[in-house]
Amino acid sequence: MSEQTPASGPVTDGPADPEHDATAAYGLDRSYVAGLTRRLVSTTGETVAVASPIGGTPLAHVPQSSPADVAEAFARARRAQVSWAATSVDDRAAALLRLHDLLLDRQEELIDLVVWESGKARKDAYLEVAHLALTARYYARTAHEHLDTRRVAGMFPVLTRAEVNRVPKGVVGIISPWNYPLTMALCDGIPALLAGNAVVSKPDAQTVLTALLAAQLLEEAGIPPETWQVVAGPGPEVGGAIVAHADYVCFTGSTATGRVIARGCAERLIGCSLELGGKNPMLVLRDADVHRAAEGATRAVFSNAGQLCVSMERLFVADQVYDRFVDAFVSRTQAMTLGASQDWSVDVGSLISQAQLDTVTRHVEDAVAKGARVLTGGKHRPDLGPYVFEPTILEGVSADMECFGKETFGPVVSLYRFHSEDEAVQRANDGAYGLNASVWTRDTARGRALARRIACGTVNVNEAYGATFGSLGAPMGGMRESGLGRRQGAEGIHRYTEAQSVAVQRLVPIAPMFGMSEETNAKVMTGALRLLNKLGLA
Ligand code: NAD
Repeated sequence: MSEQTPASGPVTDGPADPEHDATAAYGLDRSYVAGLTRRLVSTTGETVAVASPIGGTPLAHVPQSSPADVAEAFARARRAQVSWAATSVDDRAAALLRLHDLLLDRQEELIDLVVWESGKARKDAYLEVAHLALTARYYARTAHEHLDTRRVAGMFPVLTRAEVNRVPKGVVGIISPWNYPLTMALCDGIPALLAGNAVVSKPDAQTVLTALLAAQLLEEAGIPPETWQVVAGPGPEVGGAIVAHADYVCFTGSTATGRVIARGCAERLIGCSLELGGKNPMLVLRDADVHRAAEGATRAVFSNAGQLCVSMERLFVADQVYDRFVDAFVSRTQAMTLGASQDWSVDVGSLISQAQLDTVTRHVEDAVAKGARVLTGGKHRPDLGPYVFEPTILEGVSADMECFGKETFGPVVSLYRFHSEDEAVQRANDGAYGLNASVWTRDTARGRALARRIACGTVNVNEAYGATFGSLGAPMGGMRESGLGRRQGAEGIHRYTEAQSVAVQRLVPIAPMFGMSEETNAKVMTGALRLLNKLGLA
């Protein structure tokens, strides 16, 4: 591939020019793209050219939505939500199981589009399909467990019957990033739909086509199309309009934008979940299987070219195994294949845009200028693709360097030696983030105990991130500045519901009876409370 300097990401442009369109260069049929973009709520007549990171030339011209279009999308979703909420949980769950099979059946088409839009390695795109299929199946199979009305102890046994309903919030706004275009388009929406909500989705401007294909699959699975609206446009304008209309906002993206979303939701007194950034630590303890840990580290650090919220950017290694680990990690990293193509053989794919390349390059150059050593990698590879950057391992990183505490969101990791586990835990907990951590040890009980001391929403023992992320019953999300709320598990669906309590009082009121004085009533009540406690009742 020749060197080129393409426009990064979306560029505002005039009408689509068929000669320079995606179609020919990327093997996407023009009518196929038009079929997808037709689903957008957009009346502006404006389009934006989205460049593929694979070749750097425009992949498609994506129609743009205005704030008025967002309002219209919410109006449509609101109408559709009423009948959707009236369908049975079984019918909604059945649609998700059909979605599960559709995702697996259509994986080649999905993966192709994800790779064209994001430039990632094909294996990383496949994991998006697998994660979504798992999500659809998990929520379909556990729908009743999470959503059925639940009896709780009433104030008085027999006399008070109390239950809790799970009522949908209404229309959920989902604002998602570009790094996992398919996963992020649907994984948070699946539980929202199952709980009886409608959704208005705003994917990142770079990855709208994948989000539209995902919406098409929902429809093919039997979910009424009006319950899932998609809008496209610049974050502050179109994302801001989402916050202005939604009954609940699910946001995934940077911590800086998360704060903006939280302020908007606070103003409207609506709830939100915020899945934000991280500077995730991996700890290799002295009793770790060094070769297994080194192999795990390549996945922990370089999956999705490091553009993964839960990937590791700080690696703390016990003194006793440091040298052996570093040798094994460096040689495994050097054996990885790097590239920008649809081929399954690529281990580390492209970064998504010039902006990402700029950040990664800046972090590495800054570290080197201040004295860090590059053990492997460290270079932009335009010969392989416009935004390809080598997997990079740094040693000697210090607090004055940008990559010490700031999220790089690229294929760059810093190695640190530690002398005691207390020190390792303390350094892992340094900084403002708390998303994901990884601990490697032969003693898994010790690993689990250590995990409790790490201030992260997920901790994987002898795995990087996949063990928690793929366990759909386990909530996933960040502590501290890595977020608010959780996706997956019960928390991942209950955030989209209001807990409504209904209690029926039978036979006697909760008040003095038969002309009884308040004082006598208090005595009777006290006797009843003592009796209930003796009987061990709640
Ligand atoms: P970003 O915050 O710039 O953008 C995310 C989304 O928000 C996009 O759709 C964007 O258009 C929209 N947006 C931007 N400004 C907005 C505004 N003012 N109002 C409303 N919406 C707005 O994030 P990014 O840089 O594109 O994504 C990378 C970040 O996302 C990284 O920090 C990464 O760690 C994080 N991330 C977190 C998770 C997680 O689960 N915790 C998952 C993936 C990515």
